[in-house]
Amino acid sequence: MKRRDFIIKTSGIAVASLSYPQLYANVNRQIESNSHQANYDVIVLGVGSMGSSACYHLANSGYKVLGLEQFDIPHDLGSHAGQSRIIRKAYGEGSDYVPLLERAYTNWQTLESETGSQVYYKTGLTYFGAPDDPFLKTVKGSSRKYKIPINDLTVEECDRKYPQFKLPPNFQRLEETEAGFITPERSILLYVQQAVLKGAVIRTKEKVHEWKHESSGSVTVVTNKGTYKAGKLIITAGPWAGKVMPSLISKLTITRQAVAWVKPRNWDKFTLGKFPCWILEDKDHDFYGFPILPVGTFAGPLGLKLALHYPGADTTDPDQVNRNTKESDEKILIDFLNKFMPDGYENTLVMKTCLYTNSPDHDFIIDYLSGFNKDIVFATGFSGHGFKFVSVVGEILADLAMEGSTQLPVDFLSAKRFG
Ligand SMILES: Cc1cc2nc3c(=O)[nH]c(=O)nc-3n(C[C@H](O)[C@H](O)[C@H](O)COP(=O)(O)OP(=O)(O)OC[C@H]3O[C@@H](n4cnc5c(N)ncnc54)[C@H](O)[C@@H]3O)c2cc1C
Repeated sequence: MKRRDFIIKTSGIAVASLSYPQLYANVNRQIESNSHQANYDVIVLGVGSMGSSACYHLANSGYKVLGLEQFDIPHDLGSHAGQSRIIRKAYGEGSDYVPLLERAYTNWQTLESETGSQVYYKTGLTYFGAPDDPFLKTVKGSSRKYKIPINDLTVEECDRKYPQFKLPPNFQRLEETEAGFITPERSILLYVQQAVLKGAVIRTKEKVHEWKHESSGSVTVVTNKGTYKAGKLIITAGPWAGKVMPSLISKLTITRQAVAWVKPRNWDKFTLGKFPCWILEDKDHDFYGFPILPVGTFAGPLGLKLALHYPGADTTDPDQVNRNTKESDEKILIDFLNKFMPDGYENTLVMKTCLYTNSPDHDFIIDYLSGFNKDIVFATGFSGHGFKFVSVVGEILADLAMEGSTQLPVDFLSAKRFG
């Protein structure tokens, strides 16, 4: 059975046929008709990637939830804009993440079957890099440890299957067929839609100015529009995490990441169904990209999308980011295409910027905020690889806040590792 058949057959609410603009309008109409009050079981500060999923999981468990978002849902000033996010399981950032990924895949499928809307696209993923590349070594280690199928392609096999790439002969050519991409804006809207249907109150254009832990154990949150109280607070503020949790600011570096959508010389070769998601490690620079997606289904921008993952350009303040892309941002991507994908570049269509919130070791930080018992939980430091985990991080945050613990193995992400 094809994946799309599965989704249509298990559809619950009739949103399968909604275009992205229709879904956006519907969810925002739902949000506007929310009637709010002053007291909740739990407040979620920041309804972007992780916050939308936390609201869903909390509402699903029957809690009275308030989600507060300073901008629209979704928006393009934080970390979640740009149409697509890679999802993969043979994890190059460390095998400890694999059990979380197993759960993330299951939870994405639950979202799809609950809503009848597709968010995961299984395109397959190629990994390319030098024989001694440490990231690829960990990909192989994760694959071995958790029996995640990856294929080690010969030069001939790779040339036959992926003729779009021109690689040095000594490069490793790995392929993870179960990998692909998630659509971030649609996922966030669907999580918010389901949270609201299950009773959550979501307020947009409402910025949290202050929060206070009361001696009684409750939390008071003050925004530009009102004051609210709850038993628990979950902070999922993305690049603004250091602003709302000053004790963490020294641990977080915000980087400005440039992303390009280009017109390839041969458009047809790079479209969805003919071209995979890919990661290429070129010495100190890590690049990644996606197939061209049809705008009818995926909204825009249109084109072959690619970006430089590391290193990004440092910035300090998410409210003062220079959103104009520079010539040097574009040049590094064009040079890359000319070197590794000779038919991949004719001209640049669109360039955009997005923000990473980097932890010191590039691993996530998920924990209770020190000094507030277990009343304040946060998740930050997703370091440019968090989106694929959205579906499981929301569940973890809900469990930590409301149950006081989680069954999922997240000790390696504790803030205690920084002393
Ligand atoms: C260019 C780019 C490419 C990426 N590619 C991938 C990929 O391929 N695969 C992958 O897994 N990950 C990828 N990521 C990483 C992933 O998108 C992020 O890790 C993830 O989106 C982080 O989610 P978040 O909830 O922490 O931040 P966000 O989604 O930005 O959410 C934080 C929210 O909090 C709100 N907020 C903050 N302060 C306040 C306040 N005071 N009051 C009210 N609201 C507030 C913000 O407005 C925002 O909506 C990529 C990121 C970027 C930038």
